[in-house]
Amino acid sequence: MEIVPGIHWIEGITAHCYIVVDKELTLIDTGMPHKTKKILRYITDELQRTPSDLKTILLTHCDIDHIGNALELRNLTGAKIAAHPQDAEVIAGKKIRMTPKGGMRILFKLLGSFMRVKPFQVDIMINDGDNLSGFSVLHTPGHTMGSIALYDSKRRVLFIGDTLGYRDGAVQAHRKVSLWT
Ligand SMILES: [Zn+2]
Repeated sequence: MEIVPGIHWIEGITAHCYIVVDKELTLIDTGMPHKTKKILRYITDELQRTPSDLKTILLTHCDIDHIGNALELRNLTGAKIAAHPQDAEVIAGKKIRMTPKGGMRILFKLLGSFMRVKPFQVDIMINDGDNLSGFSVLHTPGHTMGSIALYDSKRRVLFIGDTLGYRDGAVQAHRKVSLWT
């Protein structure tokens, strides 16, 4: 579904997954695993483009519900995957993602026990102030150490990953950010 001219939200994928349409296609986050076909179908059927038009996959952070289809999509399209170096280490399996304290820790342990993705190397490391595929990179640590926001200055849209969420009728910081260890 086109939510802003040139920005498409692919419905039915957890978490949000966006395609930005220019001469090249850019994917922002990829959702939980096993949705690769759905994303490719969106490119071919809805956008009438070819999978090889997808040149860049930008990952806002290392959580499984954002990186789940990145590796498979890279293999099928040749797109380059970009992330912040601190989360790239988690994605590559070199570091463990820091988990929150309390109840959320149990939830993450449970999720981690049956939801895993094969570790992979990110192709492009992006840091605060960088520009890639028309997006300015802002380092926004908190939800994860390497969380980034991506600003599309042409459309004046900021993609924030899980740094902020909509809860109880308001946009607010991710719950218990200060308790992450
Ligand atoms: Zn997250």
